[in-house]
Amino acid sequence: MAGKVFDRVCPFCRLSVDAGLSNGLVPWSLRCPCGAIALGSPRPKDVIDAMIKHYDISPSSEEYGDFHASTAWTRDFHIDTRDGGRSVEMPDSVIVHWRWFLRKLPWEKPAGPMTDRENLEWLTKQAEKFYDLMYDSRRPGNEYREAKEAFEDAIALAWKMGLGDEAARLEKRLSHIKAVYTKQFSGF
Ligand SMILES: [Zn+2]
Repeated sequence: MAGKVFDRVCPFCRLSVDAGLSNGLVPWSLRCPCGAIALGSPRPKDVIDAMIKHYDISPSSEEYGDFHASTAWTRDFHIDTRDGGRSVEMPDSVIVHWRWFLRKLPWEKPAGPMTDRENLEWLTKQAEKFYDLMYDSRRPGNEYREAKEAFEDAIALAWKMGLGDEAARLEKRLSHIKAVYTKQFSGF
């Protein structure tokens, strides 16, 4: 068998994965604790269709053409993807094509109730993540708006907590990001 052999190691976090996905979209699947999934099928096209169902997204063919032909479009949905290689599965020695996917969720869910300090850290983390995503996006206006919202919430919270230096730092960061957006991305 030519090409890479599927090794069950998550390419995003390097964990060796053995838990399956329960939704049964394709006969072979894995789920990594980091949130990544691996989908396997004898037909690579079915892997893409299962991923689209799994994430409940609807890429339009007018915009993306044949979305089975390339996976570059998944970036617009914040989905990172890697070829997983192939495995031979019993009983019929069928060759299964694997692909890994990791969706960078827009607003990460907090683990539970947060103190103001934890909330401030969480908001700052979301803000910086949206700012990073802006560079990968075909519609950076969306990410910019989310980043701005998260920064504004963080700034308001920092003032409320009496953390003037932190609020000032965040305001400076937000002005920088506004400037970057205006200079490089506006018009999208
Ligand atoms: Zn992982």
